[in-house]
Amino acid sequence: MRTIGLIGGMSWESTAIYYQELNRRVRDRLGGLHSVSCLLSSVDFAEVESMQQHGEWDRAGTFLAQHAQRLQDGGAECVVLCTNTMHRVFDEISAAVEVPVLHIADGTAAALSTAQVATVGLLGTRYTMEQQFYRSRLEDKGFHVVVPDEPDRTIVHDIIYNELCLGKVLDHSRALYIDIVRALADRGAEAVILGCTEIGLLLDNSNCPLPVFDTTLLHVEAALDWALASR
Ligand code: GLU
Repeated sequence: MRTIGLIGGMSWESTAIYYQELNRRVRDRLGGLHSVSCLLSSVDFAEVESMQQHGEWDRAGTFLAQHAQRLQDGGAECVVLCTNTMHRVFDEISAAVEVPVLHIADGTAAALSTAQVATVGLLGTRYTMEQQFYRSRLEDKGFHVVVPDEPDRTIVHDIIYNELCLGKVLDHSRALYIDIVRALADRGAEAVILGCTEIGLLLDNSNCPLPVFDTTLLHVEAALDWALASR
């Protein structure tokens, strides 16, 4: 098994899911006492969130690139950035290391293709829903991406930062998200991307009106496919 390097802490609520799911899925795939070989470099999310709010993307890129280098120096053979939003600085991180950085949207795109989804809803932070870095990665692969209108984007964004990243999982917020997904379905979405690594705390295939593509779980699967592939 190759060693996966995780850049986590954005937020740690979802990094915990990455760690748990990596281990569970290695056990399921290999059996016995097998568990994941990984390194974690975890940030103080308050620092990163401040850079996001102030639009300091260059600074954030340099900061996360240092974490990637630290993982590589420690023996990680790939890098997994455990957040959708900070893929805004994917190019800076990739350029700083020799090992591959596994883009979170690529595993999702592969799963959407397999499911033959053409038009997909996207939920995430304001940065992920409104800026081009994430949508264009999907649109370049031929998907039509639909994001919520306002005020729904603000509702989705605020619930991520004010609740989910703090470990608050509220039924009231789940109901709001379900209504927002219904509105995406009315606009033609055939499925919805949970394009924020904490949204799986609220939505899954048992409660969501559209089929769910959870980026956290798909990123975990992609990382394991890579780590367990024969060299
Ligand atoms: N974990 C979230 C994401 O996947 C939001 C936190 C962040 O801004 O990194 O985008």
